[in-house]
Amino acid sequence: MSEPFIAFSYHFATDYEFVRELATFLTARGVRAWFLDKLSKPDDVSMEQYLGGLFDWRREPQNWHATYLSKLCHAAGIIVVLGAEANESRQSVGRGMWRERAAIEFFEADNPLRVREIVRATERPEEALVTDLADWGRRVIALPPVLRQRLDNADRENRPTGLTGPMQLPELKSYATAWYELVRLDLYDVEWHCRRCGLQSGNYAFGEQAPPPRCPRCAFAGYEGAAPPAEVVLNARESETLRKIEDAWQRLRQRLKERSDPGAPE
Ligand SMILES: [Zn+2]
Repeated sequence: MSEPFIAFSYHFATDYEFVRELATFLTARGVRAWFLDKLSKPDDVSMEQYLGGLFDWRREPQNWHATYLSKLCHAAGIIVVLGAEANESRQSVGRGMWRERAAIEFFEADNPLRVREIVRATERPEEALVTDLADWGRRVIALPPVLRQRLDNADRENRPTGLTGPMQLPELKSYATAWYELVRLDLYDVEWHCRRCGLQSGNYAFGEQAPPPRCPRCAFAGYEGAAPPAEVVLNARESETLRKIEDAWQRLRQRLKERSDPGAPE
């Protein structure tokens, strides 16, 4: 999609129909609108495994975070659809709308006009809302594009892992708090996208390189190690899930260490 468009951040399970209709109405009024229109994961992969990337990446049907991020970062403006379920997603570490917040902040920093938050109060989008958003959409589409860039040579920024050989590390793919989202292109080639500013690396062979500790452009370092935003309160289940992801990650690191240095004691 090379023509300017606006994108939606929304809660798929509850607000899909509303967003689909709204996007259709806006597009009919000359404001091209994109939304993530399907969401799929393998049936036998739990949400915990999915968020932690703890499954074979070749079974990933969609890599929806990366799909979303790639589209979002090329939008002219974003509509955030709020409601009870959306608010929960937005405030729960690792969930979809929570992961989209960093990119939305970047749009707000570029120009606050680019982000519109709406509260879904009706089953279907009402005429007044459609008119309002179509006017807004025309204004943001007329703005200059948000500055984006791509690295020509990702190796310049990436760190050597110290590992050799064609290693498969899909487990790094969707570590929920990382600053980047990985996009795997084939068995060896992968790219990263900054979740905040959309900076995108070139292709690199994952076995020997890893993304730098923070975004080379906007310096976003992810949420790891940082205190969650003040309004986020984890419930027991979320805390437990994050703890398990961390444990699995530590076990993986240990295994890789042993593999690269077979003489090391366990
Ligand atoms: Zn960035």
